[in-house]
Amino acid sequence: MSSAFRVDAYIDGKWVGGERRFPVYNPATGEVLGEVPDLGAAETEQAVAAAHAAFPAWAAKTAKERSIILRRWYDLIMADLDRLGEIITLEGGKPLAEAKGEATYGASFIEWFAEEAKRAYGRTIPTTTSTRRYVTIKQPIGVCAAITPWNFPMAMITRKAGPALAAGNTIVIKPPQQTPLTALALAELGEKAGLPPGVLNVVTTTKSAAVGEVLTTSPLVRKFSFTGSTGIGKKLGAACVGSNVKRISLELGGNAPLIVFADADIDAAVKGAVASKFRNAGQTCVCANRILVEAPIYDVFAKKLAEAVAALKVGDGRQAGVEIGALIDDKAIAKVEELVGQALASGALALTGGTRHAAGPNFYTPTVLSGVTRNMDVFREEIFGPVAPLIKFNGDDEAVSLANDTEYGLASYFFSKDVNRCWRVAERLDYGMVSINDGIFSNEVIPFGGMKESGLGREGGVEGLEEYMDVKFVNFGGF
Ligand code: NAP
Repeated sequence: MSSAFRVDAYIDGKWVGGERRFPVYNPATGEVLGEVPDLGAAETEQAVAAAHAAFPAWAAKTAKERSIILRRWYDLIMADLDRLGEIITLEGGKPLAEAKGEATYGASFIEWFAEEAKRAYGRTIPTTTSTRRYVTIKQPIGVCAAITPWNFPMAMITRKAGPALAAGNTIVIKPPQQTPLTALALAELGEKAGLPPGVLNVVTTTKSAAVGEVLTTSPLVRKFSFTGSTGIGKKLGAACVGSNVKRISLELGGNAPLIVFADADIDAAVKGAVASKFRNAGQTCVCANRILVEAPIYDVFAKKLAEAVAALKVGDGRQAGVEIGALIDDKAIAKVEELVGQALASGALALTGGTRHAAGPNFYTPTVLSGVTRNMDVFREEIFGPVAPLIKFNGDDEAVSLANDTEYGLASYFFSKDVNRCWRVAERLDYGMVSINDGIFSNEVIPFGGMKESGLGREGGVEGLEEYMDVKFVNFGGF
């Protein structure tokens, strides 16, 4: 299989090897998939310099010219979904069907922004003085840098590279050390599509802090976009502002509530809760992290959810029918174990699961915990594992109070058939995204992003392009 993917980094249109390399593992089996270059600050500076040199010519192309190349990139990805899906499963652990779904979802950002950049309109502003005329134009910012997480090895890159390149910027990407192979496969297809040297660069490394320091402090980098944990995001964001006041986008952690009101369609809510909570084995920033259930239906909902969760098939993501793959590594398993252990010791009850799974060291049994309360860590922290904590509530006020009782504000969900309640509750939730009667919502046309400590900025939609363009005001005086 290793011949099927690139194992060199990509800088200035060249495949960069080197002696220092680090292994990439299959989390389901522990097998080494390949070894990629362990680059450092010097190579990152070279990548930034290449992106800087490539910027003027790329920015000078028309949006349509760039769009033609990006469309080709999209087509090449769509023609290669099987291989990309396999790479995502091999290094990330998610089931193959989900991995191919991610590749399709990831590609959609390239298609969308290639189109959208053609419509990056400025404004004419009615003048306040008869001797002047006012307009705004939108322009690319310059060299962009991106640091991405392992839970969506492809889509977290294309949500940034798509709008950045479509708008006329160039980019340097640092993928996570667990999943660099997908990033390199994407770069390979970008090269085939005709992206000029230096426009897209991928720096593989285990030295995240050293590479991150260059990307956040280099005066040549004008925009920095990060997806990952809130703690690291805050540090990197501060470094960006402290260096040369870079534009920043931060897509950080979540602690999504999923509220089931007594008037909900219970079966639809169970289905939505499973879809939201157990996608990628619970390792997404928008996974339901706390399931709040109104008292009159708590018992029946808990029973149905536990039955559905107990039926989920766990195993190596490459096996047919598997719905829950391996967690990313031993640290992830240890964290889930600790959170569940603490909840059980504090009075929660495991309706199903509650232990590791026999499929291998990185597998955890899908779990439903009943009787969870605000004081438990499982209520406060992002679980990032296949564990659904249930919390009982009474009435809208308590539901909203529980839901908003967190520093995070990314995704939220609720189930209700009362249209007035739907409006009321949607307005009161302190979240960047609210999904009503639906456990899955993300795609390329919506503005994805968070409030509070879940971050800054939006990815996708028309908003996602704005993040990669400067608005310039022009005054025509002297009439
Ligand atoms: P993470 O530990 O913050 O890592 C994210 C990225 O930052 C990785 O590429 C990592 O590289 C790099 N990194 C770590 N320390 C760094 C440092 N000191 N300087 C520069 N870079 C550094 O997060 P994760 O565990 O991979 O991802 C899970 C988190 O991402 C969760 O909190 C999840 O909610 C969040 N997430 C948010 C969104 C969103 O759209 N809001 C989407 C997906 C995930 P290495 O791992 O190679 O060190």
